[in-house]
Amino acid sequence: MAVKANVQKLSELDKKHFLHPLTPPKMQYEQGPPIIVSEGNGIYIKDENGDTYIDGMSMLWNVNLGHGQEELAEAAKEQMKKLAFSSSFNGYSHEPVVRLSEKIASLTPGDLNVVFYTSGGSEANDTAFKLARYYWKCKGQPNRNKVISLKRGYHGVAVGSTSATGMPEFNNLVSSKAPDYIHAEPHLLECERGDKNAEHYDKSVRGIIEKEGAENIAAIILEPIMGAGGVFTPPEGYLQALRDLCDEHGILMITDEVICGFGRTGKKFGVDNWNVVPDMMTIAKGITSGYIPLGGVVMREKIRDALIQTDDVFFHGFTYSGHPTSCAVALKNLEIIERDNILDNVKNMEQVFKAELQKLEDKHPHVTKTRAMGLLGAFELYADRDKEEPFAPEMGAAFQVVDECFKRNLILRFIDWEGSNIVAVAPPLIINKQEIEEIFKIIDEALTAFENNLN
Ligand code: PMP
Repeated sequence: MAVKANVQKLSELDKKHFLHPLTPPKMQYEQGPPIIVSEGNGIYIKDENGDTYIDGMSMLWNVNLGHGQEELAEAAKEQMKKLAFSSSFNGYSHEPVVRLSEKIASLTPGDLNVVFYTSGGSEANDTAFKLARYYWKCKGQPNRNKVISLKRGYHGVAVGSTSATGMPEFNNLVSSKAPDYIHAEPHLLECERGDKNAEHYDKSVRGIIEKEGAENIAAIILEPIMGAGGVFTPPEGYLQALRDLCDEHGILMITDEVICGFGRTGKKFGVDNWNVVPDMMTIAKGITSGYIPLGGVVMREKIRDALIQTDDVFFHGFTYSGHPTSCAVALKNLEIIERDNILDNVKNMEQVFKAELQKLEDKHPHVTKTRAMGLLGAFELYADRDKEEPFAPEMGAAFQVVDECFKRNLILRFIDWEGSNIVAVAPPLIINKQEIEEIFKIIDEALTAFENNLN
């Protein structure tokens, strides 16, 4: 009884005082939270009612080491007791930020050896755009201001990162798209290779570069694997083709590793799957497994070298750039990833994950386009999968399946941009075979319930 009363109370207070991110405000205000989470352990979380759920999404693709990792809590506690916060403005430094920067430099490919810190992914991307533009200013090319990104790409919600995000819902919010951000059609590989006759040529990255003029373009940004846009892996050779295109036109290549970084795809970084070295890489989420906010931009030495050609201040920095406690947690997180061979686990579990996805496709007539790289996976739902005939958008097919999973205590994510029906699955990287099977048993039941509802 006391538990119920507490849940009721929290729910009422939540409705009244907490405006939730990425939630319909009316629904939240009227219905309150669908779940009030109270604790977590491994892939499981518990709510205030005492019910256990499987976190099939690592929350927001970030709790990579799973919930309840005490060593991370200890690392935060130790650092907080010693020095919870210290500024890094005016050149001030501290050991955790130095050690972490060296560690990140040792993990990233090529000469991506210099790190600028932020509190999360959106700030990281905004910083990367400022750095790109400032780099060109220092190099005597101040007109290089434009940033190309991909439609359906997600880069966050600060001004620059919203503008780079290729989803109209984000751009249209109080006209938040800044000038100089251009969205290209994703993955038009034939166009990147210079086939001018290809359909959509002018919407491809190459077409846009020609139209806008390379001398006006600072950078291109993309996720190695598109996450929130629908978990899309690029065609083989695409990233290299883009790298070549950037080199041809002197454009900086930024990869957004906010989801892919630190093991999600079974490699250290998403780009490592294709051996491509970008000029900047943005990171967040997995760097601390979500235990504490931290993000950053890792840049090639040439970017820093351009900045040190003048005595000017780089007028950019966050109070929490290089937060000591965040850095201490990140260091511990990276240590555990190596010590516990998390990347090997991801590679091994990827096989189980793919086999289970395939079983869904074999059994359920509306399931298709199953895909996974590491523990980043998805499947799609079509009314007629052979003809790729979509379900009517108002049906909310992917939402229904995710809701059926939720009723069975499994948390997944639906993606329904432009009438698509995609279900994303991205469990913590510490998951084992039995737990993956547990997840897919629930998805199987949820799909059966969805199919029964159709009839
Ligand atoms: N880039 C990508 C690829 C992301 O997935 C996200 C967050 N989902 C962001 C940037 C923004 O990160 P944050 O929410 O930490 O600002």
